[in-house]
Amino acid sequence: MAPWVQEFWRMLGLTLSMLFIGFLVGQTFLFFFLACLTYLSWHLYNLYRLEQWFSQGRKFEPPEAPGIWGDVFYHFYRLQQRNRKRKRKLADMLKRFQESTAAMPDATVVLGPRYEIEWFNKAAIQLLGLQSPRDRGQPITNLIRYPSLHHYLTQANFENTAIKFVSPNNPSMMLSVSVIPYAETQHLLLARDITHLHRLEQIRSDFIANVSHELRTPLTVISGFLETLQDAQTCHEFERPLLLMTQQTARMRNIVEDLLLLSRLESEANGNGGVMVEVDEMLKNIYEEATVLSGEQKHRITVSVEKDLTIYGHPEELRSAFSNLVFNAVRYTPAGGEITIHWYSDKEGAHFTVSDTGDGIAPEHLPRLTERFYRVDVGRSRHQGGTGLGLAIVKHVLNRHQGHLHIESQLGQGSLFRCDFPNR
Ligand code: ADP
Repeated sequence: MAPWVQEFWRMLGLTLSMLFIGFLVGQTFLFFFLACLTYLSWHLYNLYRLEQWFSQGRKFEPPEAPGIWGDVFYHFYRLQQRNRKRKRKLADMLKRFQESTAAMPDATVVLGPRYEIEWFNKAAIQLLGLQSPRDRGQPITNLIRYPSLHHYLTQANFENTAIKFVSPNNPSMMLSVSVIPYAETQHLLLARDITHLHRLEQIRSDFIANVSHELRTPLTVISGFLETLQDAQTCHEFERPLLLMTQQTARMRNIVEDLLLLSRLESEANGNGGVMVEVDEMLKNIYEEATVLSGEQKHRITVSVEKDLTIYGHPEELRSAFSNLVFNAVRYTPAGGEITIHWYSDKEGAHFTVSDTGDGIAPEHLPRLTERFYRVDVGRSRHQGGTGLGLAIVKHVLNRHQGHLHIESQLGQGSLFRCDFPNR
C-alpha cells in the first residue's frame, strides 16, 4: 500500500476508534478532540526528531519512524547520502586539480574580482615570490609593483596578450605573464619562465646589431672609393660594373641601416622620451620626398590632414613608419596611379592611412607582411630598392606607440595601410 494511503487509514482508524469509545462513554466530542491532539502530537514529535537529526549534523543514520515519517526520514537520508557523495567527488576533483596545478612548473594564481590573490601554486612562490598565507587576499599589484602589470590589469584586454617582466624573486629570471578571465569575475594569472627564450632572442638581436654595426664602416669605405672611381672615369669599360657596384653597395647600406633601426626599436624601452609630434609638418616633407621618388611615374598623390592633430611619441620613429608606408605605395603602384594619405582622428583615437590603386596583395600574404625580409615578389622588391624590412619597422614603431597596423588589400585593386593610435 502506498504510504500516504496507509497514513490516511491510520488517521481514520485513530479518529474512528476514539469516536467509538467517546460514543460509548458519552463524550464523543472530547474523545474526537483527544484523537486530534494525539495525532498532532505524534507528528510534532516526529518533526522534533527530524529537527534533532538535522541539528546533529545529519551524521548518524536517521531514527526509526513508523508510517509516513519513516518515508520522510528515508528520503532525506537518501538525499543526504547523494549530496555527500557529490561533495566528496567535488572535493576529490578539486584536490586533484590543485595537486596537478601545484605540480606545474608555471606559476598559477587565482585572482578575485579586484585582482586579490585567492589561491596560488608552489611555482608562484618561486617565480613571483608570493608567500602563503601572508599574501592571500592582497591585490597582486600591491605585491608585484610593476607599471606594466598594473597597466595590463587595468586595461583588461587579455585576449591573446601577455606581458614580460623580470621575476620579483630572481632578477636573472624573465617571465611571460598572461591572464585568463573565467566565471564572470575570477581571473587566472599564469606566469612562465622564459629566461632561455629571452636569452636566445637577446643573442639573436645582439648578433644582428653587431653584424650590422661591423658592416657599416667597410660599406662606407667601399662606397666612398666607388664614388671616387666613378668620378675619376678611368676607363669606359668599368663604367657599368662601377654603377652596379654602387647600386648594390647602396642596397647593402640601406639593409644595414634598417637592421640597426630595428634592433634599436627592439632594445629601447617603450614610451620614454616622447614629445608632441606635429604630424602635418612631417607629412609635408614625406609628400615632397614621395613626389621625388615617383619622378617620371607621376603618381597622383593627395594628402589630407586634420589640422593641429598631434600625437605623443618619437618623431624620428613615426617619420620612419609613415614614410615607409608612403614610399611602399609609390613603389608598388604603377605609373599614374593614385595615392591618398590621410591623417585624422575619431572617438577611438588618431589614424594614419595610405591607400593606393596599385597591384594589391593576395590575402595569403597579408598575415606575414610584417615579418622581416618577407616579400610578395622578391625580384620586384629588390628592383624597387626595397629591403624587406619596411613593414617590420612600421610594426615595431607602432608597438612602441601602443598603435596597431591594419592592412586591407585586393589583388588588382590596391591596398590600404592604416595605423591606429588609441586615445591616451
Ligand atoms: P620592401 O622593402 O620589400 O618593400 P616591406 O616590408 O616594406 O619590404 O614590404 C613587404 C612586402 O609587402 C613588399 O615586398 C611588397 O611585396 C608588399 N607591399 C608593401 N606595401 C605594398 C603596397 N602598397 N602595395 C603592394 N604591395 C605592398
